[in-house]
Amino acid sequence: MCDGTTFAAARATTLVVMYRILAVVAMLAACGSPGGGGGGGGDDTPDPATVFDPSVTRVVIEIDFEDGQEPFTGPILGFGDTMDVTVTNIDRVFAGKKQLTIPRVVGAMENIGAVADEELTSADLLALSNAHRDLRDGTGGKSYYVLFVGGHFADGGGVRPTVLGVSLGGTGVIAMFKDVIRTTSVPAFPNVVRFVEQSTLVHELGHAIGLVGNGVEPTVDHKDTEHGAHCTNDACVMYYLNEGASDAAAFAQKYVLAGNTILFDGACLGDVDALTGGP
Ligand SMILES: [Zn+2]
Ligand SMILES: [Zn+2]
Repeated sequence: MCDGTTFAAARATTLVVMYRILAVVAMLAACGSPGGGGGGGGDDTPDPATVFDPSVTRVVIEIDFEDGQEPFTGPILGFGDTMDVTVTNIDRVFAGKKQLTIPRVVGAMENIGAVADEELTSADLLALSNAHRDLRDGTGGKSYYVLFVGGHFADGGGVRPTVLGVSLGGTGVIAMFKDVIRTTSVPAFPNVVRFVEQSTLVHELGHAIGLVGNGVEPTVDHKDTEHGAHCTNDACVMYYLNEGASDAAAFAQKYVLAGNTILFDGACLGDVDALTGGP
């Protein structure tokens, strides 16, 4: 469906969405970088799984956005705060054992102004990160940089009009493509586009943290080797082609209204629990 992107040291892992109007299907697809396993061996970027080292006690997610492309924030009727999905899931990945800092309001994020480029390659995104990223890894702390932009991801295959987000290898840099996220909007179900954005962020952070063989080694056989660092379970957020539901209401109900906000399956949680000792 799409190629893993190798550009300089960055490996791009992509999450793709297609929206079928009649069936109201939000289909999430992801394609991963080949050869993501082995703890980053042969790569000149750090092993993503070093964040699990007990010496790392603080994890900070920095969020910037292009002017007008900020993430959805604030309360969702009957649910809670939009960012609860990301906060809850990333806290679960670390079994609640790391001090997690994730901004929940736009005021705690940075507007980087206009980005003229509408066809953003991995190199373009790394350049934007170099220009605007404020936080770096330090003693006891690990940071990730998330940039929400308009336009589309582009790689050797050209513009990727359905890619929702990318995680650039061991750099800790993630890009989220708002124009694509907006295409998943279902007017009758306003939570869906917010949920798609949140689940994409969880998926890309999952890659950045090293899940499914991208540094975090599988403890059971569930790596989708055909699709890179993804989970074989279609009910898991790390599935490359995560078809939420054929009905958007059921999709929202399953993951939002029930309060069942852990989007990782038992296999993915088992892998990280093997490193943290579990909750
Ligand atoms: Zn992916
Ligand atoms: Zn999984």
